[in-house]
Amino acid sequence: MKLMVIGCGGVATVAIYKCCENPIFTEILLASRTVSKCDALAAKLKDKTNAKITTATVDADSKESLVKLMKEFGPHTVLNVALPYQDLTIMDACLEAGANYIDTANYEAEDTEDPEWRAIYEKRCKEKGFTAYFDYSWQWAYDEKFKAAGLTALLGTGFDPGVTQVYSAYALKHYFDEINYIDILDCNGGDHGYPFATNFNPEINLREVSANGSYWEDGHWVETKPMEIKRVFNFEGVGDKDMYLLHHEEIESLAKNIPGIKRIRFFMTFGQSYLTHMKCLENVGMLRTDPVMFEGREIVPIKFLKALLPDPASLGPRTVGKTNIGCIFTGKKDGKEKSIYIYNVCDHQECFKETGAQAISYTTGVPAMIGTAMVASGTWNKPGVFNVEEFDPDPYMEALNKYGLPWVVDENPTLVD
Ligand code: NDP
Repeated sequence: MKLMVIGCGGVATVAIYKCCENPIFTEILLASRTVSKCDALAAKLKDKTNAKITTATVDADSKESLVKLMKEFGPHTVLNVALPYQDLTIMDACLEAGANYIDTANYEAEDTEDPEWRAIYEKRCKEKGFTAYFDYSWQWAYDEKFKAAGLTALLGTGFDPGVTQVYSAYALKHYFDEINYIDILDCNGGDHGYPFATNFNPEINLREVSANGSYWEDGHWVETKPMEIKRVFNFEGVGDKDMYLLHHEEIESLAKNIPGIKRIRFFMTFGQSYLTHMKCLENVGMLRTDPVMFEGREIVPIKFLKALLPDPASLGPRTVGKTNIGCIFTGKKDGKEKSIYIYNVCDHQECFKETGAQAISYTTGVPAMIGTAMVASGTWNKPGVFNVEEFDPDPYMEALNKYGLPWVVDENPTLVD
């Protein structure tokens, strides 16, 4: 099966590494903006896989550039592990070239000052009640087009979004008649030794973290100020951590796809030093996404900041500690209320030894490969645009155990108040 992977950053490195272990992928084209990164990875993997690996330059902001390459290579499936800014362009190109589409993050506009985008965004804020720059409406709108083309688009198969929704579908299938409450807990107990760095693309990460929080309750969104809601939780393998309520994209799809749901919240852990650095950067304007004039030329402050911060792909050798990501479900089974907690613990150094990347890239890249394999093998085979919880979770859960992200079900969890 021919697979084209777009992007060659931290997440892509792990996804490609794992695709090379899965015999379903016989030919893999690595295509990205900086082809030297693809070449270096291809050289590293050449002797470790039976898959034929080739590389190419592509501008994923240009549909023409993508279609041309797709028509030359003829991929069955395209895995987009570039940036959320490119989602729609890549979906358009897949439709034109006749390829299935997979990604790990929902569409986000790069230029949030664009008046045309802004008008749609502001209408959505009013109608839906949350102000995040990203939402699923843009990609769900492609459903009819993918159905008509007989192609599958699988959205958000990283860890969160991704595995957290597969856990939800698995809990519903095997443990509950109805799920009423979901708390998604994302803990990174890793230490990279830098005063400040982000574990994945700084621009995407800082935009997400500095935005308002929100959660879903009784059929509508409740929005909070950034970092307004804090809890402390004891994570297996990590210990006590402060965690803060954030808006997160899988809340939107789970609210739509889990019947009987009353509340969904998402918490992520942050240390005080990270938050202080971020607040300071925000206060001085370094998180701005609009261009400003500097010495006669335009620069976008958050892009400039990205150039100064350590490349997330370089954190692997220095990061020690563990991640723990999972979901606490409360609902009913045979008329009785119960709760379970499904989670994965992942060790940064183990990930680095195996793939050369830290656990944040690993916990995203492995599920990116698994979702791609589900579609490529026809195990998940429905034309249209789907989120991962809309398919049978069992083969995906099995693959998580097989490919390095084993999970645990705790039937007596501590709940978050
Ligand atoms: P990186 O910044 O490390 O990598 C992005 C890659 O995309 C780079 O190789 C970059 O090229 C390439 N790229 C960017 N723009 C273009 C373009 N216009 N044309 C072609 N290639 C381009 O990001 P990450 O690996 O950290 O993240 C990848 C994706 O994974 C993001 O969408 C992120 O949001 C998502 N993610 C999802 C998570 C989840 O759990 N679901 C968690 C973490 C991340 P270049 O090398 O030239 O910069």
